[in-house]
Amino acid sequence: MTPGYLSPRGAEKLRKAAETLAGVMTSCVLCPHRCRVDRTAGERGFCDLGVRLMIDSALPHHGEEPVLSGHGGAGTIFFSSCNMRCIYCQNWQISHHAAGKTLGSADLSLVMSDLQGSGCHNIDAVTPTPQLLGLIEALLDASQKGLSIPLVYNCGGYENRDILGLLDGIIDIYLPDFKYGNDRDAQAFSGAGDYVAHAAAAIREMVRQAGDSLEVEDGIAQKGVIIRHLVLPGRVENSLEVLRIIKGISTSVSLSIMAQYTPVPAVANHPVLGRRVTKEEYETVVDTALDMGFENLFVQDVSDSSIVPDFDRDHPFRWDE
Ligand code: SF4
Repeated sequence: MTPGYLSPRGAEKLRKAAETLAGVMTSCVLCPHRCRVDRTAGERGFCDLGVRLMIDSALPHHGEEPVLSGHGGAGTIFFSSCNMRCIYCQNWQISHHAAGKTLGSADLSLVMSDLQGSGCHNIDAVTPTPQLLGLIEALLDASQKGLSIPLVYNCGGYENRDILGLLDGIIDIYLPDFKYGNDRDAQAFSGAGDYVAHAAAAIREMVRQAGDSLEVEDGIAQKGVIIRHLVLPGRVENSLEVLRIIKGISTSVSLSIMAQYTPVPAVANHPVLGRRVTKEEYETVVDTALDMGFENLFVQDVSDSSIVPDFDRDHPFRWDE
């Protein structure tokens, strides 16, 4: 299947999106924080990112959903910083500040080509939201130099629907989180007190663009939406509310219910977030999803072993280094 960015009008869409996004950077509303800072003039908003691309690392990732990782790995690019500040973030070493390698879009294009060359099945852009302009510019360059694998937009769900509209026909696979069904937890845990409405609207838009039926070839996802939900300890009701909202959008959409929550140092002693999820909590969420009629679930084992990445290592996901 040909990626959207290689379709007959792909290059034109990329150019148009880049042009619009360049304008947005002068009064940034890329995400619902709507900081309206002029990032081209050095002003910084909630995400603390400037105008230049910044990434932590890029590598084949074998721990994504099987349809993304396959045998060659997802071609994961970890963008620095984030437009959320989840106090329990499993990627906290790279998501809570703007630090990393500063690149030009031609450099990122090369990174993408290298990931494809190493056998990755897709480009898995992690937290691209505040750096969308650089991603699109790099994609335009890479698409003219032979990039031909699907583009995955892997985000926290806190998206500006109007900005997503610019990506129609460009993004092949949307991989958003849907973290919260109530804004109280969204504010307390992630600093995003209007999360629920924005995430629901964003996911509706993603489903409109990419469809709610995941298209898979030879076991590898080519197009569609996979919604991730990380079950939090003591927050089963939050998870069930998330399921109710998604049910109102589609029960055919693929849903990845994650059991891997592990307390990071910042929340080791937190009264709610300081423990792992129990088997009972996780199974309640999965069973409810099945009862609600969700047809396409990715599930995990509840285990005691931690799979929190360590970005101080050369390979954050290789535990035996
Ligand atoms: S991308 Fe960053 S600067 Fe722009 S609105 Fe979001 S948090 Fe603010």
